[in-house]
Amino acid sequence: MSKISQDSLKNDEQKINEVNSVVDSNTQENSKVKAVALLSGGLDSQLAVRMIKEQGIEVEAVAIKTPFCDFDCGKGCGHKVLEVATELDIKLKTVFLGKDYLKMLKNPKYGYGSGMNPCIDCRMMMYDEAKKHMKKIGATFLITGEVLHQRPMSQNSNALSIIEKNTEMEGKVLRPLSAKLMPPTEPEARGLVKRSLLGSIRGRSRRGQLELANNFGIEDPPNSAGGCLLTDPEFSKRVRDLFRYSITEPSLNDMELLKIGRHFRMNSESKLIVGRNHGENEMLKSLGEELDYILQPTIVPGPVSILRFHDKPDLRKHKLLLECSSKITLRYSDTLEDRSYEVSITNQKRKLNRRLYIRPFTKNDVESFRI
Ligand code: SF4
Repeated sequence: MSKISQDSLKNDEQKINEVNSVVDSNTQENSKVKAVALLSGGLDSQLAVRMIKEQGIEVEAVAIKTPFCDFDCGKGCGHKVLEVATELDIKLKTVFLGKDYLKMLKNPKYGYGSGMNPCIDCRMMMYDEAKKHMKKIGATFLITGEVLHQRPMSQNSNALSIIEKNTEMEGKVLRPLSAKLMPPTEPEARGLVKRSLLGSIRGRSRRGQLELANNFGIEDPPNSAGGCLLTDPEFSKRVRDLFRYSITEPSLNDMELLKIGRHFRMNSESKLIVGRNHGENEMLKSLGEELDYILQPTIVPGPVSILRFHDKPDLRKHKLLLECSSKITLRYSDTLEDRSYEVSITNQKRKLNRRLYIRPFTKNDVESFRI
């Protein structure tokens, strides 16, 4: 690091230390103060809640579920948010961001991260929901478990300030884990929260959080594993493909389908999804819609497949498409390459129930359709 940048870092730290002591001298009584927390069920947001509750502030939580992530940002996925809220002894409101989320996902104002994760826009939607709840219960500020520089897209100072500006929450978002590294927020400046008791954790290491968890007596703190599907490169490929070929807005059902099976692009109008195990076969059957073609081998054990069209199907191409779909389905069945097998094909809308006798594709044939 150059001398100049070392000096400017020192100056910054000095400034922050000065600010910390000035802000703390403003501390006042806060018996009626309420805050809303974005709770994920992961460790960071529950530490944030504990730090603020410890200062005598009443906290209520909002947990956000999107079609791609159970609650809040990646860290929390899979954790039991209701259990955490009960443990913390706070009220919980859960919000599902469905169709509006898909609309945003197609064209996020601030773009995507390394996958199809629109973190900045996503956090803006979460803040908006939290803000509604703040209004409802008369809360003064919002708490999040965000840690400065923990996530490349949404947790740097620039991104955090964009999110606050766009949601008109400037100064009202307190991030207790990293607060001492950031300019004081309104609740700190007004003396509602004691800044000296807040944290100065930054980066991806979890050491600071684990120490805090230990101080709070949290046994077996949840690890940071898990994550938002939109950061997964393979899943992102499927989302991109769906947006590219969909004529209308993709539905929540389309998105659920992306989470299971093997996916094949048949042509610009249709795609095939093939189950990988019994559980997925059952899910495919339940997700199948009236217009879908459902395929399955009749004699040999094999998967359920769904052939789905993005638009009205071109019936002239049907024969070839159904043949190819049957061949792909047989490829993942208990079959030999040089023999033919029967596949059942049904379509509820067209009242179709037919059988096709055909050979499986080879491994190479199948790969050319893979998404
Ligand atoms: S899109 Fe980004 S901010 Fe939203 S849940 Fe996924 S990882 Fe978290």
